[in-house]
Amino acid sequence: AKMQEDTPIHYFEPHMLEASLEKTRLAAELNRALEHNELEVHFQPLIDLASETTCGAEALVRWRSPTRGLVPPNQFIPLAEENGMIIEMGQQILRLACQQTSQMIARQQWPQSFMLHVNLSVRQLLQADFVEQVEAILAESGLLAANLTLEITESRLISQPQQATEALQQLRQLGIHIAIDDFGTGYSSLSYLAQLPFDSLKIDRSFVNQMTESNNYTPVIAAIITLAENFNADIVAEGVETREQTQQLKALGCRYAQGFYYAKPQPLSEWSTAKVS
Ligand code: C2E
Ligand code: CA
Ligand code: CA
Ligand code: CA
Repeated sequence: AKMQEDTPIHYFEPHMLEASLEKTRLAAELNRALEHNELEVHFQPLIDLASETTCGAEALVRWRSPTRGLVPPNQFIPLAEENGMIIEMGQQILRLACQQTSQMIARQQWPQSFMLHVNLSVRQLLQADFVEQVEAILAESGLLAANLTLEITESRLISQPQQATEALQQLRQLGIHIAIDDFGTGYSSLSYLAQLPFDSLKIDRSFVNQMTESNNYTPVIAAIITLAENFNADIVAEGVETREQTQQLKALGCRYAQGFYYAKPQPLSEWSTAKVS
């Protein structure tokens, strides 16, 4: 009787059943997607603000599903994170992105200094043999470690700080760069940042968006840029959509930018070589 009093009653609604069925279906389809190589990588240019030239690109996953069409990452990455599929998925994405970048450099369509950014899940990073996996992918693709930046969201690292920091250090010893993604969102801890090995900070696009709307955000961005400078790190502004934003960012001393103002993520088949100089 006690149990019944304390336990809230959850009525099982039809929409809950529908949602759980959809999740099961999605997981099964994603499994098949991994087996049938349905994942593809789109590249968004990374711009050097001083010269307004492309100096790299961020690889962003897309799922070319036979039934759903081209599916954006927010529709499947969270589930893959939840059920662990992100590990296999992340490995496929890294392999694809490294292979394609290596080919573009070999064909001299991208410069030797081209910087490929690839997103990393903390679940990948915490795998015992992750560093070896990355070394193997670099070796087989022919891409140099110096051409690779791995992006990681700092708030997700907090769960296993010691292990994560060690893995990041090992990656850096190989010559790979580390970027802290979505900086300023979530529970950023400055004392933790001091222990983290990183080469660049990416200012989250929510700050960039609001920079021109309310000037309240300009000091926040200025502070992040100063912080990055003091850590000897590069700074990348995300989600730049207007010319005004590029000018403000430049004036604040931001070196790199990424956003729809310059280009949307696109498959290599649509990448215009004229953009790179
Ligand atoms: P993110 O890493 O912060 O990537 C930037 C997102 O912002 C991308 O969305 C990009 O298309 C979008 N974006 C770029 N410029 C602009 C802009 O000017 N305005 C607006 N409104 N958006 C812009 P996308 O490709 O849908 O990716 C969403 C998120 O999914 C990524 O956020 C990242 O967290 C995750 N993701 C994408 N690819 C991968 C991957 O290969 N592995 C992992 N683990 N996560 C990934
Ligand atoms: Ca990213
Ligand atoms: Ca980001
Ligand atoms: Ca984000």
